[in-house]
Amino acid sequence: MNVLLLGSGGREHALAWKLAQSPLIEGFFAVPGNPGIADYATCFEGIALTDHDAIVALCGAHRIDLVVVGPEAPLVEGIADRLINEGIAVFGPRQVAAQLEGSKLFTKELCKAHNIPTAAFGRFDDREAARAYVERHGAPIVLKADGLMAGKGVIVALTLDEALAGIDEVFAMGGPEAGFRTEILIEEFLEGEEVSFFCLIDGETVLPFGSAQDHKRAFDGDEGPNTGGMGAYSPAPIFTAEIERRVLGEIIKPTARALADADCPYRGVLFAGLMITAKGPKLIEYNVRFGDPECQALMLRLDADLLPLLHAVATGRLENQPVPLKPEAAITVVMAARGYPGSYSKGSRISGIGAAESVPGVKVFHAGTRREGAAILANGGRVLNIAAIGGNVAEARERAYDGAALIDWPEGFYRRDIAWRALGSDTR
Ligand code: ATP
Repeated sequence: MNVLLLGSGGREHALAWKLAQSPLIEGFFAVPGNPGIADYATCFEGIALTDHDAIVALCGAHRIDLVVVGPEAPLVEGIADRLINEGIAVFGPRQVAAQLEGSKLFTKELCKAHNIPTAAFGRFDDREAARAYVERHGAPIVLKADGLMAGKGVIVALTLDEALAGIDEVFAMGGPEAGFRTEILIEEFLEGEEVSFFCLIDGETVLPFGSAQDHKRAFDGDEGPNTGGMGAYSPAPIFTAEIERRVLGEIIKPTARALADADCPYRGVLFAGLMITAKGPKLIEYNVRFGDPECQALMLRLDADLLPLLHAVATGRLENQPVPLKPEAAITVVMAARGYPGSYSKGSRISGIGAAESVPGVKVFHAGTRREGAAILANGGRVLNIAAIGGNVAEARERAYDGAALIDWPEGFYRRDIAWRALGSDTR
C-alpha cells in the first residue's frame, strides 16, 4: 500500500514510526514531514498543507492508496472531501464532521439534540443578554467564543466580575469592523478531573483506542502559561472500565450514530476531552485527530499493525474487535525551546538523541527540528518528545527522564513532573 502522511509534528513522527513497521507498506511519503519522519518516508517539505491541489496531484503521481491526516486544520478546511472525490481513502473526517472540532456550537447543539452529557450552556449574540445570563447563574462560569476567535477561545471565569469583563472583551473583538458577528457560548463550570479518550470510528463501528492525560501548562506544578501540551501519559488511572463503558454508551456512540444518521458519517479518530464529575463523565470538547503529545504515548502502547487499522477506518471496514493495547504505561515528555510558549530562538544544536534511545523502552520523536548536514537543529517551540514505555507509570517516567537527561541541548527545557497525578494512584 502507498501511504501519504500529512503533518510535521511529534504526533506525525509517532504515526510514521508505527506505520513504517507495517509489512503492508510499499511507498511512504509525507507532506511536509520532519527530520524524524524522513527516516522512513520521502518528505515533500515544499508543499504546504493548505495547498490541496498539490496534495491531490502528489497522490496521483505516487498512486497513493491511503492519506493519513495528522492535524485538524486540513480536515476543517475540507482536505478529506477533496481526496475522497478523487477516489482516495482518507483517515480523517470530511469537513461537515470535522465541525466537531471546528465549531464548538456545532458540538454543543449536537449534544443537546441527542442528550449527550455536557456542561449546560446558553448561546448569545447580544452582550446584555449574555451579561444577564451570567448574573443569573453566577461564577465560576466558562465563556467560549466560537471558531473564528481561536486562540482567544476559552475563559474560565472564577468570579462574576471576571465573567462580565470577559463578555465585554469578547464582544469588543467582533462587530462590523472586525468583519464577523460575535456569538458567545456560556457554559456551566464542570468540576472534576479531566481525561482524554480516543476512539477509531469508521462511520458505524466504534473502537476504543485508550485514554490519556496531558499537561497543558508550561511549568512544574501546572504553573505558567498554557501550551500545546508539555507531556502526557496513557492509560489514565481515573479512566476505569466502568467509566469507559459509560463514555462509549452515553457520549461517543450517540455522537457517531447522530452523524451517520445525518449522512455525514465520522471516519477517523475521535478525541474526546472529558470531565469526570461527581455525576459521571461529561464531554468538554471533541477533537478530530490524535492529541499531540498523547498520540506518541498511544503509539508506544499499540500492539498491532497500525496501517490496516487506519485503512479499515478510512474504508468503513473496521472489525468489531478491540484495538490491542499493551497493558504497560507510556509517557511523553516534551522538550521545548526556552521561552516557549512566548518568543524563543531557533537554530540551536541538539545532540544525544541516539544515547537517549539506548535507554530501554525510550523512543525520541521529532516535533520541531530541522536537519543541517549531520546536525539536528531546534526549529520550533516544542522541539523533541521523549517517549517511553514501562511496566507502570513510574517505570515509564523514570525511563523517559533518564532519556531526557542524555539529550544535550542547553537551550531547551522540560517539565520534571509529568504524570504526577497518575503516580499518586498508580497501584499496578
Ligand atoms: P484546547 O483544544 O486547547 O483544549 P479549546 O480552546 O478547544 O482548548 P476547550 O477544550 O473547550 O477549549 O477548553 C479548554 C480548557 O478549559 C479545558 O481543557 C478545560 O480545562 C477548561 N474548560 C472548558 N470548558 C469547561 C467547563 N465547562 N468547565 C470547566 N472547565 C472547562
